[in-house]
Amino acid sequence: MADTFRYEGEVPPGETRHVRYEVGETYLGDPIEIPVTIVNGDHDGPTVGLTAALHGDELNGVKVLQEVADRYTPADVHGTLVCLHVLNVPGYLAQTRDIPIYDQDLNRAFPGRPRSNTAERMADRIYDTFVSQCDLLLDFHTSTRNRTTMYHARADTSNPEVDRLARAFGANVVIAGPGETGSLRRTATDDGIPAVTVEMGKAHRFQPTLIHRALDGVASVLAEFGVDPEATVSWPGWYRAVPADQGDKTWLRADTGGLVEMRWGPYPLVQEGETICTISDHFKHEERVVTAPFTGILVGVLENPVAQPGHPLCHLVRIDETTHDEIVAEIDRGEFDGYRQRGLRWRGESPALD
Ligand SMILES: [Zn+2]
Repeated sequence: MADTFRYEGEVPPGETRHVRYEVGETYLGDPIEIPVTIVNGDHDGPTVGLTAALHGDELNGVKVLQEVADRYTPADVHGTLVCLHVLNVPGYLAQTRDIPIYDQDLNRAFPGRPRSNTAERMADRIYDTFVSQCDLLLDFHTSTRNRTTMYHARADTSNPEVDRLARAFGANVVIAGPGETGSLRRTATDDGIPAVTVEMGKAHRFQPTLIHRALDGVASVLAEFGVDPEATVSWPGWYRAVPADQGDKTWLRADTGGLVEMRWGPYPLVQEGETICTISDHFKHEERVVTAPFTGILVGVLENPVAQPGHPLCHLVRIDETTHDEIVAEIDRGEFDGYRQRGLRWRGESPALD
């Protein structure tokens, strides 16, 4: 028999509840409430947490959670789904990454403290009430504004249960490491709740292709952990876990200020020595060429075309020969068509009206 899910209210087995849960207060005295959906299944099983907009302008995950909350009914679910649709409500309202005014990063405030600053108080309410009850956690993010990121996961794959979760989610690339102190992912994982961060696309957008892919990832996770026994685990084709702290990945940065022109493409695969972009001055007198220091795939790319020295241009992940060949085969099958020009498959947007 499945258990009742308790927060300050309770959700018995066989029920879905949409609630607003207070995590703070504005200076007008209004409550700051996060929208929460709890789907408590008819049958017993794990409690799966899904979180979005921990950074307030990172919206793709918000759409993923809206769909998950709508799609699964208690009859489907063996266990409980806890969807925390928008964690950073103040940032979401202002469309900023951090909590506005004092620019606190909610994703460095976990597990939080009830008598500390705004971020830590919010984190404490969220963590204590909901996250601590979960058996697994998927936390959805996007790139920060003016950049885009390839669909990938971040996970401490040295932990076998986290590795299982990351593989089940089915992203091709996993950046492996414990994550920052105070991040939701690291805090949960350290607490014995396997957690994976999903990075997908851009801030300030809904990108349907990425959202569909993430929904497939959620379905695959629910299959792997027995929450949705009807579903099947999907395998992404190729898989590469890249240690976060080794020379296997790098942010290439501008050494001069100027106007950036991306030259890579049409696929995100670049060979050692290949030109990725150029940086030129406004008179077009001088041009610096930025080349790939090793063969790899571009995981993140600058979108705002003006750079100053030190500005990140792109995030490159080294790949071995086997992965290289698998990606080439996918390119041959057309899997990456439109990646550079139109961003159809990876950036998930409609083609430009040209
Ligand atoms: Zn984020």
